Amino acid sequence: MRPDIIVHNLSIVRQRMREAALRCDRSPDDIQLVVVTKTQSADVARMALQAGATILGENYVQESREKFEALVGLQTQWHFIGHPQRNKAKYLVRIFDLIHSVDSERVAMELDKHAQKNGKVQNILVQINLGGESTKSGISEDRALTLVQNISNLSHIRIKGLMTMPPYFNQPERARPFFVALRQLKEHIQKAHIPRVEMTELSMGMTGDFEVAIEEGASLVRIGTAIFGARQ
Ligand SMILES: *Cc1c(COP(=O)(O)O)cnc(C)c1O
Repeated sequence: MRPDIIVHNLSIVRQRMREAALRCDRSPDDIQLVVVTKTQSADVARMALQAGATILGENYVQESREKFEALVGLQTQWHFIGHPQRNKAKYLVRIFDLIHSVDSERVAMELDKHAQKNGKVQNILVQINLGGESTKSGISEDRALTLVQNISNLSHIRIKGLMTMPPYFNQPERARPFFVALRQLKEHIQKAHIPRVEMTELSMGMTGDFEVAIEEGASLVRIGTAIFGARQ
């Protein structure tokens, strides 16, 4: 991977994000880009940081531990977007500034335990499975409020919002109803005024559909392919 290609692709993605934000009267500054470096080497991740990436998104714990070690000292936020496992909670808490993909109280309790040990408050999002696909993680829409309420009682976890990954469509417009549903679910949970729950972030939108997600309120988009090309 050549550094100039990453620079070029990043600038195109940022431009498209800006245009999508302006189309719907949002400030481009309100949308953050998570550069998804899963399966990419530490060298490629370093190039992305040198090209101006500020947040790296990772799916696999072992892989991110290696990258984290290799890139120590470089300024970046680390976001976990894979499926969190309880037996990896220790590493998740050690490495990640935000975990996008919490979908059970059991995982949240384990993260809370390690966050407490490390003297950290762990920021998380709750992942919602809106498509009802059994292959995707996430809690169903109707169980989300209860889960948020239960997790909100954990003293070293802070819920910042919601994340979703809609079914894959060739046409991005077909993902729009899922993004609308996530925004409405966020508003529904906000109305419950659960103490210590902030519900400010909406993590939605990937290479194929991020502009539509921004139009529907995304505050975090997670993009890999548009920056690095297709993964091996
Ligand atoms: C891989 C991945 C992405 C990035 O997808 P691209 O289509 O490559 O932009 C975003 N979110 C999650 C949860 C992922 O696993």
